[in-house]
Amino acid sequence: MDFSDMGAMWRYVYETDTFEEEVAELWETVRPLYEQLHAYVRRKLREKYGVDKVSADGPIPAHLLDFSDMGAMWRYVYETDTFEEEVAELWETVRPLYEQLHAYVRRKLREKYGVDKVSADGPIPAHLLGDMWAQDWSNVKDLFLPCKNKPSLDIAPALRKQNYTAERMFRVSEEFFTSMGLSPMPEKFWNLSIIEKPKDRAIICHASAWDFCDSKDFRIKQCTDMTMEDFVTVHHEMGHVEYYIQYKDQHIAFRDGANPGFHEAVGDVISLSVVTPKHMVKIGLLPESAGKKDSEVDLNYLMSQALSKVAFLPFGYLIDVWRWNVFRGKISSSHYNCEWWKLRSEVQGVQPPNIRSEEDFDPGAKYHIPANVPYMSYFVSFIIQFQFHRALCTAAGEYDPKNPLAKPLHDCDIYRSKKAGNLFKEMLRLGSSKPWPDVMAVITEGNRRMDASALREYFQPLENWLRKDNKKHGAAMEGIARHKNLMREPRDEVEKETARAPSSSSHSQ
Ligand SMILES: [Zn+2]
Repeated sequence: MDFSDMGAMWRYVYETDTFEEEVAELWETVRPLYEQLHAYVRRKLREKYGVDKVSADGPIPAHLLDFSDMGAMWRYVYETDTFEEEVAELWETVRPLYEQLHAYVRRKLREKYGVDKVSADGPIPAHLLGDMWAQDWSNVKDLFLPCKNKPSLDIAPALRKQNYTAERMFRVSEEFFTSMGLSPMPEKFWNLSIIEKPKDRAIICHASAWDFCDSKDFRIKQCTDMTMEDFVTVHHEMGHVEYYIQYKDQHIAFRDGANPGFHEAVGDVISLSVVTPKHMVKIGLLPESAGKKDSEVDLNYLMSQALSKVAFLPFGYLIDVWRWNVFRGKISSSHYNCEWWKLRSEVQGVQPPNIRSEEDFDPGAKYHIPANVPYMSYFVSFIIQFQFHRALCTAAGEYDPKNPLAKPLHDCDIYRSKKAGNLFKEMLRLGSSKPWPDVMAVITEGNRRMDASALREYFQPLENWLRKDNKKHGAAMEGIARHKNLMREPRDEVEKETARAPSSSSHSQ
């Protein structure tokens, strides 16, 4: 027995000789509905793009029903036509703070490595910042702490002394969530998660959190080390799981973050409380003396926070600015690396360790670029987590906007606050069932926009100090925007002519 062709084989499983006729009949039954929808969509597109682009009675041009490029598709989930302008504006709002930090760090590096290695007013050599991408400068924070005579806020020695294990770290993290009235990790989580590096096999150790979508099974995979960084990561990953648990009863289509930035922000909001010296004292990981009010300890603490939270902002922003322009053809393949370093220099104020060319492809060294994972969510998260922090701290009575000297935002700890917990829960349980501004408004007293004012407020005492210190040392403040010649000329000038002009409108957003 054989089939006459592949189509016959595919139809065979429907167990009838008249399958072709039956589906044709089904199509005729639903066609009137489709025709109504088609006519409606055609009329709407005609209104938007003009009568010369869409005919009154003919077929709809297919490209108008699609995204203009991959960048438009990535921006679509942010539910606004002006996402590009909004993130550009956010970056402008935090830039003055970043420029102060950058000028200070550049001067310190000049003192350490010499005036011939680090210029007084140009970009900073990226390889001096303690991280392969210069995206987080806290690995070299000892160079930059303003008050060197103060005790370290690193908890690693205490973790070792108290014989901490991975499980204990996870239990301590869980206790933070439950102290606010949020959900404990379910039994399956404890039985099935991997929280230590297995001895018998190699695994991908990059920490991640998983929702198995049956409303019961949620896990973390992490090769936990007894360091401060990993202690923070435990809370970050558990934040993802807490979000999964809170929205588990939503329809499966809505079991997701309100927008991609929200998911990354949940655990970080918790971490903003966890890492305060005040909290570390409470859980016995720093000595009582570290919790005393001391403006110098405060400055050191804010500096170490800024070296990861503020230093990251331009990097988090520029990755997708570069990719959006690649996707729309504004950056051609003969200029990939040149345009990359132009952004790195102009936005982040860093330069490569040596002269680069188009024979190099430096963007490819960042995981998210070859893996094609959108990156703007991290920038969004680093902005909105401070909005959430401010909202929850206000609810907890831990922050007083009228008296920030007595109760400053950076010192707030929402541990054990049921009020903050209930508010957080109310937002998290919505998942993606409503537009994200509605979800945000649940906790931000009606504020429906991404807004960097909370971040600026959090770092205000450090910014004041940086401004004074930079002024005192006559630091040049215009250095970031100056684009030095970091590149050899591209070899192939012809190829850039083939680049397609960007589409005029991003209709698909
Ligand atoms: Zn994450």
